[in-house]
Amino acid sequence: MIHYSCDLCGRSIRDQRYTAKIEVAAAFDPEELTEEDLEVDHLEQIAETLADMESTADFELEETGPKNFQFDMCPTCARKYLKAPLGAPRTTARANFSQN
Ligand SMILES: [Zn+2]
Repeated sequence: MIHYSCDLCGRSIRDQRYTAKIEVAAAFDPEELTEEDLEVDHLEQIAETLADMESTADFELEETGPKNFQFDMCPTCARKYLKAPLGAPRTTARANFSQN
């Protein structure tokens, strides 16, 4: 029997296992460069940015291929996750915002 544990809280899951399957993929065509992208200024800018990044050892080129994730969740975490699938939404900060 396969044993599952919650990817969020680490608790073991008995029967009520929830899964979240997420695919993150580029919605644009990374191969499609416009003339604007090929302008010298732009390339210089990129070169400068890359030069700045050279000092960072763990710099990785951004991957454009789709990435798939699958998470196992216990019922408690699944409920929490459904409320904020992408983490805490910015709108929650607005509750205390206006104090005029
Ligand atoms: Zn959990």
